[in-house]
Amino acid sequence: MTPFPVVLSAPSGAGKTTIARELMQRRGDVGYSVSCTTRTARAHERNGHDYHFLADSDFQARVAAGEFAEWALVHGKRYGTLRSEVQRVLDAGKFVLMDIDVQGARQFVTAFPASVLVFVLPPSVEALVARLKGRNTESPADLAVRLNTAHAELQDVGRYNYVVVNDALDQAVENVSRIIDAERLKRDRVHALDAQISRLLVELQDQIDRIRGAAR
Ligand code: ADP
Ligand code: 5GP
Repeated sequence: MTPFPVVLSAPSGAGKTTIARELMQRRGDVGYSVSCTTRTARAHERNGHDYHFLADSDFQARVAAGEFAEWALVHGKRYGTLRSEVQRVLDAGKFVLMDIDVQGARQFVTAFPASVLVFVLPPSVEALVARLKGRNTESPADLAVRLNTAHAELQDVGRYNYVVVNDALDQAVENVSRIIDAERLKRDRVHALDAQISRLLVELQDQIDRIRGAAR
């Protein structure tokens, strides 16, 4: 089975980063694509682990060099996925979890058409606001910007293959995990299916001939 990228998008605060981190703890066959951003690091975030934190000039140079599979301006800052980062995880034989916004997801499927797109919904607006406030990482002005962006993001849900409501975290993580397991069994993803079926048909015919021969 060839691993594929799993794109998680959601309004900021719905919990996609939390789901991604939890899924990585549970499954050894899942890796995370570390994005680049021009926003400043939050207190607990580490460069190279949560994001590659880049100066605007560095980010632009990488855009010009074609290093990004996708990039977008989100809440006034640049965010992007390095092709090399996705390839690194795929080459390790792992599914790649991507935490990217709706604009990025649109571009990303062009670069990696085998991707599965999952939209994470908050159980309610009340919960979304409470989570964003509880995270305590944005100023009130930034909070308003993120909620405003959520308006547009929610309208893009039709482009996604699956929807997961992040109410109880454990259940949401389990559902993303099930999506991966169901997708890997899709006919188009089964390795060398035509050859497998041809072999079965030959063996089947052989058995039919033998049984007929014995019955004569
Ligand atoms: P996102 O990556 O979508 O912006 P985060 O993963 O940072 O969101 O989650 C936002 C906040 O909500 C964090 O403080 C996180 O701990 C919390 N959170 C995430 N999932 C849940 C959940 N199912 N129930 C309660 N709180 C949650
Ligand atoms: P945050 O600043 O809260 O970490 O992320 C803000 C938004 O940027 C989220 O919607 C997140 O999904 C998005 N984001 C994070 N990394 C990327 C990326 O590499 N590309 C794009 N397009 N969006 C990203």
